Amino acid sequence: MMLPTSRTMASEEFVFSVIYFLLTMCLLFTPTEFRAAGLTIENILSSWLGSEDMHLIYYHIKKTSANVVIHSALPLGYYIGLGFVSQKLDLFSFSQLTLPWMIFLGAAIGTFGIGLSLFLLWKRQNWNNHPIAKSLGYHGNSWRLAASSINIEFRRIDKFQTGPAGRRTYVTDSWIIKTSPYSVKIAHQQDCHLNVVKTEEHAISHESSTGAQFVTLNVISLNENIPDFEIRLNSIDYKDLKDKVASPLVNARNIIIQQSTTERFVLAFRNQVDANPTYNLPEGSPEPGNCIGCLQIQSNVKLIKRCDDQESGDCVQCYCRPMWCCDCMCKWFASRQNQTRPETWLGGKSPCPTCRSVFCMLDVSLVNNIG
Ligand SMILES: [Zn+2]
Ligand SMILES: [Zn+2]
Ligand SMILES: [Zn+2]
Repeated sequence: MMLPTSRTMASEEFVFSVIYFLLTMCLLFTPTEFRAAGLTIENILSSWLGSEDMHLIYYHIKKTSANVVIHSALPLGYYIGLGFVSQKLDLFSFSQLTLPWMIFLGAAIGTFGIGLSLFLLWKRQNWNNHPIAKSLGYHGNSWRLAASSINIEFRRIDKFQTGPAGRRTYVTDSWIIKTSPYSVKIAHQQDCHLNVVKTEEHAISHESSTGAQFVTLNVISLNENIPDFEIRLNSIDYKDLKDKVASPLVNARNIIIQQSTTERFVLAFRNQVDANPTYNLPEGSPEPGNCIGCLQIQSNVKLIKRCDDQESGDCVQCYCRPMWCCDCMCKWFASRQNQTRPETWLGGKSPCPTCRSVFCMLDVSLVNNIG
């Protein structure tokens, strides 16, 4: 009868660990469902934190401090919880602890000690020591004056905001503010400029129906006490940001910030064509001329049926010589799709622009030996 009992014990500890781990993850990366149900630190501490809309800076000073304390208490919370749940481990008889548990307990107490000390240090003299207060202090004589200037501008409805809850970027008339769980970065628009650093393309995929492009900008302050920081936003919001930012916005490398679905599709199409097998121009055949779509670039794609479209059986071999460039072929393909449902484009079909043979994206090959 011993075996089943000890098995139950082991599973108690396992179940507790899994639940604690999941709760920790939910605390650190609050899922939307938790947010909707109001299960966030912000909500639970709302009366102490005050209103973000009315007192942005004080709200974030308190919120970052609370995060530091609560998150630093998580390992110790695990130890205490496990001590109550487990009857086998006997975690509260400190003299009989095994070495690994002793180390864990020491580290957990140390982490919480550091978190709590930071909190108490920051809170002294009515938050004068908090990093946000310190960084605001570099913007003028008193951090409280800077804070109230930000708070006043933040209450206006025409501020720009982007990003997920808890990690939002705000642009007010004269400030750029980036919030995150442990810190808030603030730059005064007057003494900074923005640099487009890079873009990331998320091509149309099964997960997202339209695809997206994200732009990363570096906020560089002339004030040497304010470190540079990055902000990241969906390119759809880029124009609004540009309208709101009074400081110079530099796109030195001329990074293309796209907006339309067609342009995003060109990227996905291009990726697929790059992955397809290439086509070797037969020995002795004439060089392809310029693309008959744009007349600018040499034709560089050939349609070769390579897919096995068992379901529809629509695709057929096209015998046209290369007459189009990849971009024009893509735009033609996109124009033949259902314009209201871009998520279907990747799996779509189109007739060859010259001979009308049906092809899909898998049938587009780059021509190898030209130029
Ligand atoms: Zn072309
Ligand atoms: Zn054809
Ligand atoms: Zn096909």
